[in-house]
Amino acid sequence: MIRIEHIGIAVSDLTKAEEVYGRLLGTPSYKREAVESEGVVTSFFQVGPNKIELLESTREDGPIAKAIAKRGEGIHHIAFEVADIRAEMARLKAEGFQLLNEEPKRGADNKLVCFVHPKSANGVLVELCQEVG
Ligand code: ZN
Repeated sequence: MIRIEHIGIAVSDLTKAEEVYGRLLGTPSYKREAVESEGVVTSFFQVGPNKIELLESTREDGPIAKAIAKRGEGIHHIAFEVADIRAEMARLKAEGFQLLNEEPKRGADNKLVCFVHPKSANGVLVELCQEVG
């Protein structure tokens, strides 16, 4: 793994959270992007070499809505940048980690992504992400 690429935070009101994080970080969100397949709208902030990704659900049964119903707003996942997502998925599988998707899928911010089950990683939902051209 190369580095922590971003930290994902589940929020119930994206516009309000963008205002809060804009003040907290001293820089505004630089982009919003919807990911239809996941039922989310995301908003990104650059913090030095890393990012904060705010996620608001667009569906009542979406993963972010479920997470907020269960645990409230807060840190949802930690994303690690990888050079070769398929190789990293194979490595983690061989190490006994449970992957939530068998194939890399298209995520926000021009990335291929794969999630690792929190049960495999001490309660943390881990995202692998690889930049695509
Ligand atoms: Zn993410």
